[in-house]
Amino acid sequence: RAMSSVFVPPPKCLQKTFVAPQRHMFGPGPSNVPPRILAAGAEPIIGHMHPEMLEIMSDIKSGIQYAFQTRNNMTIAVSGTGHTAMECAIFNAVEPGEGVLTAVNGIWGERAAEMAERIGARVNSIVTSAGGYFTNEEIDQALTKHKPVLFFLTHGESSTGVVHPLDGIGDICHKHNCLCLVDCVASMGGVPLYMDKQGIDILYSGSQKVLNAPPGTAPISFSERACQKVFNRKTKPVSFFLDMTWLANYWGCDGKPARIYHHTAPVSAFYSLRESLAILAEQGLENSWQRHKEVAEYFHEGLETMGLKLFVKDKNARLPTVTTIVAPPGYDWKEITSYIMKNHNLEISGGLGPSVGQVLRVGLMGGNSSKASVDMVLEALRDALRYCHKSKV
Ligand code: PMP
Repeated sequence: RAMSSVFVPPPKCLQKTFVAPQRHMFGPGPSNVPPRILAAGAEPIIGHMHPEMLEIMSDIKSGIQYAFQTRNNMTIAVSGTGHTAMECAIFNAVEPGEGVLTAVNGIWGERAAEMAERIGARVNSIVTSAGGYFTNEEIDQALTKHKPVLFFLTHGESSTGVVHPLDGIGDICHKHNCLCLVDCVASMGGVPLYMDKQGIDILYSGSQKVLNAPPGTAPISFSERACQKVFNRKTKPVSFFLDMTWLANYWGCDGKPARIYHHTAPVSAFYSLRESLAILAEQGLENSWQRHKEVAEYFHEGLETMGLKLFVKDKNARLPTVTTIVAPPGYDWKEITSYIMKNHNLEISGGLGPSVGQVLRVGLMGGNSSKASVDMVLEALRDALRYCHKSKV
């Protein structure tokens, strides 16, 4: 037998077939993907510039316009996760040396600040404790002081479980000649949100939360005002992949007759995203908002009845999609989450960023937002609190 020319042998581990376990995905994301969306993703691959694909992209655009409540022409899905959309927003809207103000009440404001720093922006932040949020007056004052070109705010702070009020903030930004950028990755479809009415200039989300699509695509939309800034830059954005001039053409938003190849779209991921938006449109946004609210209230009542405490004190500031529970005193939160995973096949998670060690986080999003899921989580928590060890300290 001839000696092989490859000296790295085929890995043994790849001889085993991988079968993904069925789990209740009740952490802050990804959420469970229903069979209908999985099936859409299993359709045959077509070319990323075939007419059917261009139609799918156009459908996705309409679906996002509905989910965001916007008529913005510049509405697309980025090939990538929520972070990709975050960078797309910041990289396109800001030039080196320009000012950015981020509102930090959890990890997402911190990350936005870091992204803006990386492209050489002058970054300032307003910071409040985990579980809190900002008043319009505080935002107005900070904008007066720092005069940024872009203000970043997280609508659904998944690290702390806070939903930030949005009314009036767009107008305040515009008064200061500043663009209003909002992260709705964890809130879109689960909390009322009106991009145009609320004067939001750039809004982005993700596929793997309320939409129940696989991770890997991220809706984003730019207002007319944002486009004025994005398409009149002096410098090119640092990222070729995220350059909105290219993406606008690729998504047929620039009015040019020909589409130029930019990157190979994640074809299956677009099928799934389209299906998830179709389901949201069928169910109706307002019904989805209402269901997430009712299920969250039912969940919060159940937790309090069990003697657990909610991390966000102000009832109106509790994010319906991701609930933060004060880590039960005396317990090791890691033991609770692993016990529940092992014995109930159910994912809940610990804190993130400023809330690490302080909370347990439970996400009930899209199809997972139901009283049946709540009952399952409450039962798992009851069981875990009975069996996990209370520390001796
Ligand atoms: N923003 C928020 C509010 C999020 O909850 C997440 C995901 N946890 C992201 C941004 C980042 O999204 P991704 O993990 O898809 O990059």
